[in-house]
This record gives sequence, C-alpha cells and structure tokens, in this order.
Amino acid sequence: MAEIVLEGIDKVYAGGVKAVDGLNLRIADGEFMVLVGPSGCGKSTALRMIAGLEDISDGKLHIGDRVVNDLAPKDRDIAMVFQNYALYPHMTVEQNLAFGLKLRGTSKDEIKKRVGEAARMLGLEPYLKRKPAALSGGQRQRVAMGRAIVREPQAFLMDEPLSNLDAKLRVSMRASLSQLHDRLGVTTIYVTHDQIEAMTLGDRVAVLRDGKLQQVDTPQRLFDSP
Ligand code: ADP
Ligand code: ADP
Repeated sequence: MAEIVLEGIDKVYAGGVKAVDGLNLRIADGEFMVLVGPSGCGKSTALRMIAGLEDISDGKLHIGDRVVNDLAPKDRDIAMVFQNYALYPHMTVEQNLAFGLKLRGTSKDEIKKRVGEAARMLGLEPYLKRKPAALSGGQRQRVAMGRAIVREPQAFLMDEPLSNLDAKLRVSMRASLSQLHDRLGVTTIYVTHDQIEAMTLGDRVAVLRDGKLQQVDTPQRLFDSP
C-alpha cells in the first residue's frame, strides 16, 4: 500500500488541449479517493497518467517514496480496472484470475491461494470453471476486479468500472466495492461521472472541472457545503 501524491500535474495533448491543469492531490495510504466531474473534465487522463498509460506533461507524480514519472506501467505496482473488462474468452474464470500471476512467475501454491481468496471475497467460487461467455455482466466485472486483487498491488485505479452495468447491479456492486475496500484497505482512485457513486464510495471526493481541482473533501462536507 502506498500514498499517491500529484504535485502540479499538467497534461497537454498533441494539438494543444490542456486536459489536466496544475492538479495537486494527496491520496493517503489506504484511502478511497473518487475523482468526479462532467465528461471531458480530465478524470480519465489523470488516472491514465497515474497508471503510466499517458505521459505527464509537467509536475511530479509520487507513489510511496518514489517519483514515478518515468516508470513504465508494469514497474508502478498498480492495478487498473476499466469499464470494458477485457477477459480472455477462451479461459475459465480461474484461468483468467491466475493468468497475470503466471506471467509474473508466481509459484503454483501462491497462485492457488490468491485465486482462492479473491474468488471467495468476490463471490466467484461457484463460477471458477465457467468461461466469460457464461457469466452475467456483474460476474464478469467481478472477475476483472479479481484479476486486479490477486496481484496484491500498492494501489487500485478504476475508471468507471460500473458504467456498463444496469442500475440494480450498480447498486449491489457499489456495496461489494465498499466491502472489498474495507477488507483490503488498498489505496484506491476511482473515476466516475456519477455523483451518487462518488458520494457512497469515497472516503474523499475530488471534484474536477476543465482539468482543474475545484474541491476535495469528505462526501458529508461536500454535501453540506452550499
Ligand atoms: P473525462 O475522463 O473527465 O471524460 P478525459 O480525460 O477523457 O475526460 O478528457 C479530457 C480532455 O482531453 C477532453 O477535452 C478530451 O477531449 C481531451 N482528450 C482526451 N484524450 C485525448 C487524446 N488522446 N488526444 C487529445 N485530446 C484528448
Ligand atoms: P470515456 O469518456 O469513456 O473515457 P472517450 O470516448 O472520451 O471515453 O475516449 C475514448 C478514447 O479516445 C480514449 O483513449 C481517449 O484518450 C481518446 N480521446 C478522447 N478524446 C479525444 C480527442 N479529443 N482526441 C483524440 N483522442 C481522444
């Protein structure tokens, strides 16, 4: 687990769009931080820079006690979950969960242990032998989260992970996400344009507008403020 600090982060895309503008934000070790704001305000860009999927134009990004601006994604010890969970269709749930660890050379016993734990936490035990095509949307999204969990990363980044699910499923997945975070206590940054999601999930919520930080506070205090 690790603290993540954004220090004067800018992103200027080729063509000159300033997608993120002087962003300062400290996400405490174990905190669940939500980035919220209208479409185009720079949420995804900010998250992608933290993941290392997008170059940082200016400023410093700290993860733990390192400045990671120039580190490749695989060296940042961060796991990211996207809205379109790309599972391997020819593999079972169990194989999907184990695949990343296998690539990293994790031992068989350790893989078995971590996959078992993740499946238990996410309620996936009955589906381990199924392939993704035989799962519901919510179950697939749980597998995508499971793949992130088994890596035991320093931080989780999630970009609108529930936006492809129907309203009822979103509510139950919100509850699962909260429980999961309570259990794992991993530093989490969660991007959404949904204010209810932001308010129910976040320890704190950062409100972005036009690439700038407008407010950052607990849901309670944001809700109470005029
Ligand atoms: P959000 O996630 O809040 O919807 P984005 O980070 O996707 O916002 O986009 C922020 C701004 O940057 C928008 O104006 C968007 O059009 C622009 N943008 C995003 N990605 C690119 C890109 N690859 N090239 C150029 N402009 C981009
Ligand atoms: P979302 O809103 O779900 O994040 P978008 O449709 O905004 O997705 O963006 C999808 C992809 O297109 C992303 O990789 C983003 O970086 C890229 N993109 C977004 N806006 C622009 C833009 N103005 N120019 C070039 N690429 C863009």
